Order: sequence, then C-alpha cells, then structure tokens
Amino acid sequence: MRHQFKKALIMAAMLCTSYTVVQADTMNLTYDGRNHVYDLPSISLYINNTPIQTTLMPPIQLGDRVLVPAREVFEPMGATVEWKEAERKVYVYDGVSLLVLEVDKGEAWVNGELKMLDMPPKVINDKLMIPIRFISEQLGYKVVWEGNARSIAIQKPLPPAQSELPETEEDPDETLNPIPSPTENWENSLSNISYEPDQNTLIIEQQPLFSVADMSITDLYREKKIIIDLGGDYSAFLNGGTLVSTEGRIKGVSLEHAAGTRLIINTSSVSAVNLYEQEGKIHIQLVKPSEKYEKIVLIDAGHGGSDPGTSGGGILEKDLNIRYATDLYRLLINAPHIKVYMTREEDVKPSLEDRTTLANEIGASLFVSIHNNYVDNTAVNGTETFYFSNPSDPRGEYFAKLVQANIIQGLGMNDRKAKANNGLYVLRNTTMPSVLIEGGFLSNEQDRMRLTQADFSPRLAEIIYQSILTYFEMN
Ligand SMILES: [Zn+2]
Repeated sequence: MRHQFKKALIMAAMLCTSYTVVQADTMNLTYDGRNHVYDLPSISLYINNTPIQTTLMPPIQLGDRVLVPAREVFEPMGATVEWKEAERKVYVYDGVSLLVLEVDKGEAWVNGELKMLDMPPKVINDKLMIPIRFISEQLGYKVVWEGNARSIAIQKPLPPAQSELPETEEDPDETLNPIPSPTENWENSLSNISYEPDQNTLIIEQQPLFSVADMSITDLYREKKIIIDLGGDYSAFLNGGTLVSTEGRIKGVSLEHAAGTRLIINTSSVSAVNLYEQEGKIHIQLVKPSEKYEKIVLIDAGHGGSDPGTSGGGILEKDLNIRYATDLYRLLINAPHIKVYMTREEDVKPSLEDRTTLANEIGASLFVSIHNNYVDNTAVNGTETFYFSNPSDPRGEYFAKLVQANIIQGLGMNDRKAKANNGLYVLRNTTMPSVLIEGGFLSNEQDRMRLTQADFSPRLAEIIYQSILTYFEMN
C-alpha cells in the first residue's frame, strides 16, 4: 500500500517538474556573515532526465560543491524536508533514509551514523541551501556533474514494480520499520513507532533524532494517561496517527505536534514508564508501578468535592485532610527510593472504590488515609489511627502503632490509640498494609484550634513522613 502510494508520488513529481533553464546573472550573496559577488555561469539541474528550475534560489557553486534550495529539489523526489530554524538543522527523510544536517557544520547524521561533509548546508540570502551531491548519494540517487556543460543530473532509481518482487524479498520499508503483524486486537497508523503488546512496549525508530535525556514524562495516573514529550518538533519524521489496542497495558496512543512532538498514551491500568535506548531505538515500556518501584506510598486525602466530610466551627474536614496530605506528599516526593501517589490533589471527590482500585493497581506498599473526626460530645478530643487487622501480615498494625505514638509524642495530642478496624471500606478493600489516621476532633474546641494552626500541618506531615521512613527501614 505504502509502496504504491510512493510510486504514485514519484510519477506525479516527474510529470510536474518540467521547466526551462534560466541563466543567472551576477548575484550578490550573503552567507558566512559577509556579502559575496557571485558571477559563475548558471547551472542546469535535471531530475530523472527532466530539467527543473528552482524559484527561491538557483543552484550555487561554492568551491567544487553545489548547493541547492532544500525543499524545491528534494520534495518533488518524494522526500520530506524539514527546516528547524531554532536548531539550525535540516531533516531529510525519504521513507527509508533519514539525514540530519546542521547549518555550517561539517558532519551529518545518516540513519544514525555520523558522516563527514566537505560542504555543510548554508543559509544564503536567508534561504536554506543544501549540498546536492551529499544528500543525493546518501539517499541512493545517482548524481552526474558535467563540469563543461555546467549541468547536474540526479537520477532516482525507480522501485521495482510490485509484481516483479519475488515472494520472499523483503519490503525495504518493512526492513527499516520491523512492525510486528497487527492482530485483530490492535491497529497502528503511527509512522516509525511500533508496538509489542506482550512487552507493553512502544518502540520509536531511528537515532540520533531523539535522546532519552531530552524526553520528559508527565504521568496523569488518575486519568490513566501518560504524556511523553520528545523534547523537540519531530513532525518531519513522525507523522500523526493513532494506535488502538485491546491487548496489554496500552489502550491507545496518539501523536501531537502542538508545542513540540508529544505522545499521549492511554493505559488500561495505572502504569510506570521505563524509558531507555536500545540498538538506536527508543523503548517506552509500561509496567505495573510495583515492578519499577520497590517502595510505594499512596496518600489518601479523605472526602473532597461535594463530600465535605465532617465539620465544626466553620472548618470543613476535607480542607484539613488535603492540607495535611499535600504537606506529606511534598516530603515524600523528594524522598529517595520512595514513589508516592495521591488519590486526589484537589478539591474533588474520588469514590471509595476509585481510591482502593488505585492502591491495588499500583501495588502500593503502604496506604495512608488522612481524616479528621467529629462526635456530638464536644469534650472528646485526640488522635486515633485505624488499621486493618491481618493475622498473617502485622505490618499495618506495626505502622499504625508507630505513627500514632509519634503523633502523640510530637504534637501532644490526646492518645486515643491505634485500633483495629476491619469495617472501614478503604482498609478492607486494599491489599497492602493500610491505615487511616484521624488527626483530631472538629467537634472539640481545643483540637480545632490546634488542627488549624499554621504549623500543625507541616509538623504532622513531618511526623508521618519520619514514621514511613522508619517503617520501610524495619520492613
Ligand atoms: Zn473523614
């Protein structure tokens, strides 16, 4: 299919490129930061035996090399030419070979290999001019320069007709892009990106365009969405398209070129990304977070959105919960060797099921839910911590007792103890050690004063954080 399309393009290009040759007079050229008077006789250009005339600039001879306007010459031959002015780089891609050249730089990348150039691309009179022989030869075109006649002829070999191809011969496109045969479970229209569902891996072809070091990952895990910014605009090489799958961790991939090229990956479950280079290709592998991270904490700020939780003295429980949770998150996000997730970061209301599903999907090592309390008896005050009592795994009880003792000691709250409670939904439905901390009582005036003091939240967060570090040391 691609072959036939390309052939049609080439045929169309051949039909469209018949022009007459015009003589260039003396010209003033600006390049290398200076003005130059150019008075060499003009050069005729032939592509596949058809004379063509370029409109932006005629072919220019510098020394014994000839430069031509990039797009005007190579696009009619079926190549894509992309000029990235900010990077001063030009990308030439013909579906098989990729060339990356830099203005005034004597080396170029050709299919991932660095090659020397005796004449680099130049900006002449604000037009990008590229060395015709080097580009043509690297793309596999034949170049004949007739010095006396001052003519250059480029011959692009025609691909063999489909019917002439022996059954066993490999399609050159397929050789470059070894795309595994799509099954009925997935479909891919992305160029130069393949998918290996059994490895949950996307593979981007071709170095040196991309480097893992330039790429950045935004993990919108609550939306099961991962955004990978490639660190530049690669629209010349990666065409827009989509991948849809019902197999593996990837549900869909789309490619955008808005502010630089980005991949938007929708996942079937919350996933961590392993990003690495192998054999000149970028691998984007999705794994269960617990396969990547040894220690994972999920912080659950209770209630939120339309559910304020309890309240007292005009204070809403949900607001205190998110404040404490956010302070704890800020400490954990900088903790080495600990990965932290949150069930919410804003005033929204995930369902209880959302919270426990997230905990189980990421394979959290510890689930910490943060709440505050209320009873009608306004004399009742203090902190209490609930845990799920699991006779075969005492770690939840251990952590509950540890954090409860540290809070009492550090903040002087009334000690209402760590208690088993197997009735609480988020403790019952999570498969890892889990606790629910009730910071204090909004129904009690003294507690309410403390809970809302400016330094209470950072101090509480620090105590929970230190308790988590101790927990991981001990377990
Ligand atoms: Zn609550």
